Amino acid sequence: TETLLRVDDLRVSFDTYAGEVRAVRGVSFHIDKGETLAIVGESGSGKSVTAQATMRLSADKQIRYKSGSIRFNEKEILKLQEKELQRIRGSEIGMILQDPLTSLNPMMTVGKQIAEGIIKHQHLPKREAITKAIEMLRLVGIPEPERRVNQYPHEFSGGMRQRVSIAIALACNPKLLIADEPTTALDVTIQAQILELMKDLQEKLNTAILLITHDLGIVAEMADRVMIMYAGSIVESGNCEDLFYHPAHPYTWGLLGSIPQADQKNKEALISIKGTPPDLHAEITGCPFKHRCSYAMAVCHEHRPPAFEIGEGHTAGCFLHHEFSPSVINPITKEE
Ligand code: SF4
Ligand code: MG
Repeated sequence: TETLLRVDDLRVSFDTYAGEVRAVRGVSFHIDKGETLAIVGESGSGKSVTAQATMRLSADKQIRYKSGSIRFNEKEILKLQEKELQRIRGSEIGMILQDPLTSLNPMMTVGKQIAEGIIKHQHLPKREAITKAIEMLRLVGIPEPERRVNQYPHEFSGGMRQRVSIAIALACNPKLLIADEPTTALDVTIQAQILELMKDLQEKLNTAILLITHDLGIVAEMADRVMIMYAGSIVESGNCEDLFYHPAHPYTWGLLGSIPQADQKNKEALISIKGTPPDLHAEITGCPFKHRCSYAMAVCHEHRPPAFEIGEGHTAGCFLHHEFSPSVINPITKEE
């Protein structure tokens, strides 16, 4: 396997009226070609900012890169000029967001919106680009694509609109697809169809996916590897088997313990661990999870836990894995 994206010690801040928010605090990870990496966390954990920073997309926030490196396909993203970045964004990295209504242009037919990128990045003439747009609509499962290509976003249902955004994101055959809560706004049946579609297309096109979600059910279904974020840091990472069957961080234990039995209306409420995350304006001393952790020790208040290696490719930033730490019963595996 070949590494497509490698992020090292990324630190990102943005400015608000209340001062600097240190949203990403030294995050490192990689994605191999064709694989799916999920970033899981509560809102405010830094998961979306990490994904946006990867593309140097700042959305509505003024993002500042404090340090770190983002290597994508042998290029250092943090050193590229805006022009080269735009080329990469349209052709090598595609993005889909939670609400396609805000990412689609309401005044333009979906066909033109898909064709736009094809014309710009693949330099096809307009006619051929529209033909390719029809093919893309067919590929993402939109019925009667020849007719639908001339319609506007409001003429599509929520699920169909998300299919259109997937068509736009994949039209130039990107190597990486960043999907930020791609199905959160959709109902459960449509959600399953969209996830199925993403998996199918990934297999066909060998696209790597960086999936941002707070939903562990989606992670189990989609991801090869998982990274759990809390207060701007990665607290645990590993493959799905590690995370679901051998979780090693108290925050992950909390997340797994709060998976609902049946499907739940308020999806943000799935993650409910007592207490609140720390204020991201301030410096954090010690473990970022210490105020919510039932296992916190003196050391947790003074030192930042390093990433302890639990197994191959499985790490947890928690002092319980220090060789001199007292042993505790893992509430998920019931083992010491
Ligand atoms: Fe809890 Fe300490 Fe581990 Fe942080 S380092 S998660 S406070 S036990
Ligand atoms: Mg978000």
